Amino acid sequence: MEFCKNQVVAVTIEDMGKDGEGIGKVDGFTLFIKDAVIGDTVQARIMKTKNNYGYARLTEILTPSSHRVEPRCPFARQCGGCQLQALAYPQQLAFKENMVRRNLEHIGGMQEVPMESIIGMEEPFHYRNKAQFPIGLDKNGCIVTGFYAGRTHQIIANRECHLGVPQNRLILDIVIHHMEKYHIAPYDEARGKGLVRHLLIRYGFRTGELLVCLILNGKSFPHIEELAETLSRLPGMASIMLNINKRRGNTILGEQTVLVWGKPYITDYIQDLQFRISPQSFFQVNPQQTEKMYAKALEYANLTGKETVWDLYCGIGTISLFLARAAKKVCGVEIVPQAAKDAKRNAELNGVKNVEFFAGKAEEILPEKCQGGQVHADVVVVDPPRKGCDKKLLDTVVRMGPQRVVYVSCDSATLARDVKYLREGGYEVEKVCPIDNFPMTCHTECVVSIQKNSANI
Ligand code: SAH
Repeated sequence: MEFCKNQVVAVTIEDMGKDGEGIGKVDGFTLFIKDAVIGDTVQARIMKTKNNYGYARLTEILTPSSHRVEPRCPFARQCGGCQLQALAYPQQLAFKENMVRRNLEHIGGMQEVPMESIIGMEEPFHYRNKAQFPIGLDKNGCIVTGFYAGRTHQIIANRECHLGVPQNRLILDIVIHHMEKYHIAPYDEARGKGLVRHLLIRYGFRTGELLVCLILNGKSFPHIEELAETLSRLPGMASIMLNINKRRGNTILGEQTVLVWGKPYITDYIQDLQFRISPQSFFQVNPQQTEKMYAKALEYANLTGKETVWDLYCGIGTISLFLARAAKKVCGVEIVPQAAKDAKRNAELNGVKNVEFFAGKAEEILPEKCQGGQVHADVVVVDPPRKGCDKKLLDTVVRMGPQRVVYVSCDSATLARDVKYLREGGYEVEKVCPIDNFPMTCHTECVVSIQKNSANI
């Protein structure tokens, strides 16, 4: 049967895609339908067709799935932040576990994936320790803040995101009220005019410390002392800063940060290790799940105290410090020089001495060190961004021949591609454990233990 744009069809949703969209078939023709969940029968309008598949917009839920739940957030459907709020949490976990398994089978070429059960959260809301709110004007010229709608820069007014901490709301109310009182203009992306671009809030779950950073298209903020005085009365307020970003484009933070009140960072803990977090620092956004993820990485590293470990893509050294106490030595490599500096400082702060950090690209630093011939690794840990590891890096790892590779991944498709490469290089996957660091969204983390084949030892 031929399908065309604007045609309305009834579809039963049998599967879900990587972005959390529902997938169903009509007469063998596959349709991708955002906001439909597995088990639903829906009415949908076809928006775009390709040879044997198409995209449709959900117009009515004919029979709701038994896994469908009422989203907590009234903006869940429009907002680009959450994709899975209408799906019950146990089914979100099943969806993510399946996604990891399928990618390792289809892309990684594995026949049987040694999966452990996904590690979820008991309370899958209010877990984020960081929020970045864009500030703009609505159609009536009123100041609004909230989140971007999916794939756009249109702001959905919402000060009460259920993934963030409740303090966000109090801070937003104070800042917006101050802007209204003194007629301070939000930044207009299209024209490059106006002052206030974003509000960044960071929270230390363990210490209760709060950091507020206003991101400005300018150098100063009217009546900042008055605003700082009001904000400083909030329990836990530790740091109020301004960040200056006069560039066009959508990079949130500029290079210069000015301290207004308090100290230029907050402190938080992962287990008993403390970390200083400034506006620019990379720090995992869900600290409760991060502890479980690092504990899994430590378990998979299987350390006895005699090993030399390389922690590649190490950020501010969190995994390195976590592993250092169980290893002889840990060497970390990180591309962002400031993060590598922070890693060194964090090591000092925690009195960890058997670590060394290098700033640079992992795929350049490791081969360089290898050429000298002195470097050795018993265990290699990688925690790359979504695009996965560089081939040159994987080649070097295979050449170094560590006993074990622990792969921490935030994208199971690139993980599976890299696993395939390592399997061809004489390694085999021993265990896989997905961890849900991002409930309500379609993202997931995953820790994989990869062992050298006994024939290659
Ligand atoms: N392991 C850390 C950071 C993981 S995020 C943690 O758990 O906190 C991935 C990190 O890899 C980022 O800090 C990013 O700056 C860094 N990175 C990206 N490309 C890199 C490359 N080619 N070489 C080294 N580090 C890189």
